[in-house]
Amino acid sequence: MTGELTSTISIREQKQQPHHPDIPAHTRLPHGRSSRPTWTIEESEKLYRIQGWGEPYFSINAVGHVTVSPKGDRGGSLDLFELVEALKGRNLELPLLIRFSDILADRIERLNACFAKAIARYNYPGRYQGVYPVKCNQHRHLVEELVQVGHPYQFGLEAGSKPELMIALATLKTDGALLICNGHKDREYIETALLSMRLGQKPIIVIEQLEEVQLVIDISAKLGIEPIVGVRAKLSTKGSGRWGESTGDRAKFGLTLPEILSGVNQLRDAGLLNALQLLHFHIGSQTSAISVIKDAIREASQIYVELRALGANMNYLDVGGGLAIDYDGSKTNFHASKNYNMQNYANDIVAEVKEACEARQIPAPVLISESGRAIASHQSVLIFDVLNTSDVLSGEPAPAHQNEHLIIRNLWETYGNITVENYQEAYHDAIQFNEEAKSLFNLGYLSLTQRARAEQLYWACCEKILNIVRTQDYVPDDLEDIEKIMASIYYVNLSVFQSVPDSWAMNQLFPIMPIHRLNEEPTCRGILADLTCDSDGKINQFIDLRDVKSVLELHPLRKAKVQENQGSGGEFTDKDTQSTVLEESGTTSHPQTREPYYLGLFLVGAYQEIMGNLHNLFGNTNTVHIRLAPRGYEIEHLVKGDTITEVLSYVQYDAEDLVESIRRRTEQALRDNSITLAESQRLLQNYQKSLSSYTYLSS
Ligand SMILES: *Cc1c(COP(=O)(O)O)cnc(C)c1O
Repeated sequence: MTGELTSTISIREQKQQPHHPDIPAHTRLPHGRSSRPTWTIEESEKLYRIQGWGEPYFSINAVGHVTVSPKGDRGGSLDLFELVEALKGRNLELPLLIRFSDILADRIERLNACFAKAIARYNYPGRYQGVYPVKCNQHRHLVEELVQVGHPYQFGLEAGSKPELMIALATLKTDGALLICNGHKDREYIETALLSMRLGQKPIIVIEQLEEVQLVIDISAKLGIEPIVGVRAKLSTKGSGRWGESTGDRAKFGLTLPEILSGVNQLRDAGLLNALQLLHFHIGSQTSAISVIKDAIREASQIYVELRALGANMNYLDVGGGLAIDYDGSKTNFHASKNYNMQNYANDIVAEVKEACEARQIPAPVLISESGRAIASHQSVLIFDVLNTSDVLSGEPAPAHQNEHLIIRNLWETYGNITVENYQEAYHDAIQFNEEAKSLFNLGYLSLTQRARAEQLYWACCEKILNIVRTQDYVPDDLEDIEKIMASIYYVNLSVFQSVPDSWAMNQLFPIMPIHRLNEEPTCRGILADLTCDSDGKINQFIDLRDVKSVLELHPLRKAKVQENQGSGGEFTDKDTQSTVLEESGTTSHPQTREPYYLGLFLVGAYQEIMGNLHNLFGNTNTVHIRLAPRGYEIEHLVKGDTITEVLSYVQYDAEDLVESIRRRTEQALRDNSITLAESQRLLQNYQKSLSSYTYLSS
């Protein structure tokens, strides 16, 4: 979901790497059981693959916390856990999006350095001048920062719509930086772009629809401003991965070759052939395979030189986006990865274009890329907390008595006899007995207590079998799902629809890991369930070296270290403070007695924020911009997330009207004697307080 028409088919390419298990099976410990005292942070590094996707920005320190080095290997680092605690201390509740301004700067520097290196290496007679596609993340502080750090490189902006053009025109202040005008255009769009040349902007109007050619001709004649025009070509090179349909003969975008020729003729007839200076293409986002990029560049280079031969004053070649991010760190052409690095990307572009131009003895173009994902992803980290967990397993089952129901005795016997030799058979027995127990219950032959007992025994069997499965090199097909079936549910304080829409909409993978306790073995296996009342509001696919994994290794929640009882809130909270943590049964823990457990969702700086939606009215999260300072860090910007009043206003509810309506009803209830004065005041206070509070849960 990146503004492209997307294919709904999920493509599962085989990763190219050989079988190479990260964590030897025998070191994996049973579900939620006590951990080895010897677990090391190196083991956590391997398990969560942090070097693969996080280098050089994220790593783990000696106390088992994730650290952030926003300047890569060239500067200080911050303890992410401590940072979160400090921000919470400033009343910034979770979920919290942290943007690291220095990472953004580092990405821009890297991209420019890679092209500079490639240009030097191949003796390329032109230069590189990138632009940032605003659609990737339009937030003001980010775009402003980007323009600022891009200044030394004359880095420009790309707009894909009229609103984005408004942003770009007002924000871009770098002399000579390009303003690439993409997207569908009407008269007003083109007129505004052309007039901005009078302010010193350098807009290039990229023709995406043939009708735009005539519009540009008319408007520039009327204004007396000579435009710089580009054309977007529909390449025949097939893209790859989820956004691969952005190219190819039936792609949504760009002009076919006959259309380009017709546009060239129109411009020539209008005496504007000189204005045509740029060729643009975009093969789709997250292009995992370098071969696809090479093919596209080769095809585009030929179109470029041909346009030059037709008399156009070609000067720019814009290779669009597509530079991918290695979300799973596998360095493969898997859709969540890429089999090349930024330097390879720059090298291939520079080398291919140079060769094509040399062969036809034409000047080398200024190279433009519109890399969005590659610039914006790393800088944002979403931190959220776990509210509680739910396990299928509820403690060690008690032995079956002689006089218990036969089905229970059978399950007990199965449970007792599970061995490495018979676990597969035992699994089928347990399933069958459990099914029988359900039928017996439905027919009235088992009581609720008996059925619950049967179920408990069934899960105990599964757990025992799972522990054996984890020690095996080969997992029989019929047992493949047992890890998934036995997974704990970690209820997390976020909305997938608001914060990671691509995870929901297209199963995109993002690295997720705890940001502390990494010197402790994560003995639980879980999936994440969000706050929404939607069964799709979950994350149950996680990055892995091979393909994806269906459960994430997590730590058991634990009791808070003894703290003074805060005793807030009087008569309504007495009950709450007594709940227990980590008891052996079902749903465990309570916010007031357990230690916080923070997870980080990484590489979410591109596309996720703007495409998030208000499902269940969970709004924007709190956001902070952090910059490294000589000592520690500085909070540059703080953008409070939506309050309930704000999200309600998006759906046309007025907070004052709502309060007034509740007030009237409490008055009526008071007159009817169905509420006490104290209760009515409490209700109104709560209602008003909620309206001005964050849409997420507070811990
Ligand atoms: C979306 C888009 C981009 C950005 O693509 P990334 O893969 O995020 O770099 C660039 N150019 C155009 C025309 C786009 O539509």
